[in-house]
Amino acid sequence: MRSALKRDIVIIGAGFAGSLLARLLALGGREVLLVERDQHPRFALGESSTPLAALSLERLARRYGQADLRSLAAHGRWRRDLADLRCGLKRGFTFYRHYPGVPYCNGETNDARFLIAASPSDAVADCQWMRADVDAYLMEQACAAGVDYRDRLEIVAAEPIAHGLRLRGRRDARDTIIEAGFVVDASGAGEVMARALGIESMRSSIAFSSRLVYAHFEGVTPFAEVAAGAGACLSEGPYADDWAAVHHLIDEGWIYALRFDDGVVSAGLLLDDTDADTGTDGDTATDTAHAPAGVSAEARWQGALERYPTLAEAFASARPRSPGLRSTGRLQRRCRHAAGKAWAMLPQAFAFFDPMFSTGIAWSLLGVERLAEMLTEKDVSTSGLARYAALLDLEADQLQALQEAAYAARVDFAVFRELSFLYFAFVSFDEIRHRLIDSTEEVGGTAWRGFLGADDADSRALFRQARERVTDALADGSSDARRRFSDWVAGAIGSRNLIGLGDSATHLYGIDLERLIARSALLGLTPTQMESLLPKLRG
Ligand SMILES: Cc1cc2nc3c(=O)[nH]c(=O)nc-3n(C[C@H](O)[C@H](O)[C@H](O)COP(=O)(O)OP(=O)(O)OC[C@H]3O[C@@H](n4cnc5c(N)ncnc54)[C@H](O)[C@@H]3O)c2cc1C
Repeated sequence: MRSALKRDIVIIGAGFAGSLLARLLALGGREVLLVERDQHPRFALGESSTPLAALSLERLARRYGQADLRSLAAHGRWRRDLADLRCGLKRGFTFYRHYPGVPYCNGETNDARFLIAASPSDAVADCQWMRADVDAYLMEQACAAGVDYRDRLEIVAAEPIAHGLRLRGRRDARDTIIEAGFVVDASGAGEVMARALGIESMRSSIAFSSRLVYAHFEGVTPFAEVAAGAGACLSEGPYADDWAAVHHLIDEGWIYALRFDDGVVSAGLLLDDTDADTGTDGDTATDTAHAPAGVSAEARWQGALERYPTLAEAFASARPRSPGLRSTGRLQRRCRHAAGKAWAMLPQAFAFFDPMFSTGIAWSLLGVERLAEMLTEKDVSTSGLARYAALLDLEADQLQALQEAAYAARVDFAVFRELSFLYFAFVSFDEIRHRLIDSTEEVGGTAWRGFLGADDADSRALFRQARERVTDALADGSSDARRRFSDWVAGAIGSRNLIGLGDSATHLYGIDLERLIARSALLGLTPTQMESLLPKLRG
């Protein structure tokens, strides 16, 4: 047998999360090999960041003394400090409901529009990440920190050995054997460890199914401009509608549009095929080799646009960038275990449900924080790994329950909007608590708090009920059923509703400091204490 490469830690996959983790571990004195089957710069999906992702980046920047990570956390700092990396201003989440065959129509009370700001200004706003640039940059930084990086090397097999794992990699049809004391699976949809170790898939437990048609486009007209031109009433919101993660809910599923500062728009059509017998249950996200046969990506994209005239107008002059429109098989997947003896998965290798609420980057960064902390120690304890795996499992439960409920709700815009409050209440509460309170006390272990309240039994029970509540609300469509659902949502978010979800008659939610002061008791603060802490919200 050829002699093996031997390394303390091997990380499979140089997406942003794998490269970032590799860099932090190298800075902590570990010997790290980072392996990537592709070559940077390369296209990647997963571009829309959120406030919780920004908080993770800021914590990592402080803890490991890496100022550039703080720059990645806010649009103003990014443009000032990392001007070579392309990004887009993201001020919040914009939702529209479209109906087939008619131009987009919205009245004064925004019956088909819903905006929720994630930041008070452009300077501290989130960013859309041009992943080709960000991922290549983070790989370079990992190399500069001493990581041994090998690209065009695909890991195809793994087996346990006495002191870790033996991996088999392939490059140019030649095998490379690697022995690792510990392996981190950062391969995302590559699902390397799950395949190599035969870990059970829990895909069939996921109650909905969607697939994606996507591209980067040039020449997309801002939707708000087109909609206003077509006569829709778009009263002034907390930010300009298009500088956000824009969600167009349609009968067939939904379309996202993420605008970059240079005018490029990343857009994707999520086709809900929950009820279809697609025969693609084993497909993997973004793996175009598994795209469904028969209908081309162009035909699916054009077919959807043709049914929604205002969307068609926004994309009328749009040109997909090379390599053009692509499609995937079913996106949803989940593994039985997130860690085992001498290995652990980052969140994206463990589970993925849907991009509806842009949860992936924030969750991945929590995984990076946790594994960086654990693996900086020479001996990773079995109990530490078990804790890591158990938390990821609970978080996957929360995400799955949320997305299943969202897919059930998406057919009815009012029900969907209220259901989404569950997500927005939990994340905004965590963000505000962290910015106002934890940051002054530097509480250890923040990264080990469960994402979306996953470490809290009451919160888990609420998320578990969500889909059933949605189904009830939709079943008879009566005003009583609607009211019961509204009451349930209000009760579910009551202890976390710092931002007044449900209070706006026009469904436009900006950052309202007066409201935060009025609700200071939810954080255990007096109004005066809250007022004195508020400047921290501006980063
Ligand atoms: C359609 C879609 C849209 C999304 N939108 C959002 C969003 O708007 N906001 C958000 O927060 N999150 C989003 N996500 C989630 C986001 O993409 C992930 O959180 C993020 O990409 C995780 O980064 P990563 O580095 O862990 O994995 P990835 O970015 O998936 O990187 C994995 C890397 O591993 C490499 N690899 C795979 N197999 C092998 C192998 N056998 N050997 C070696 N290398 C291998 C791949 O080439 C790749 O470079 C989205 C996901 C999808 C699928």
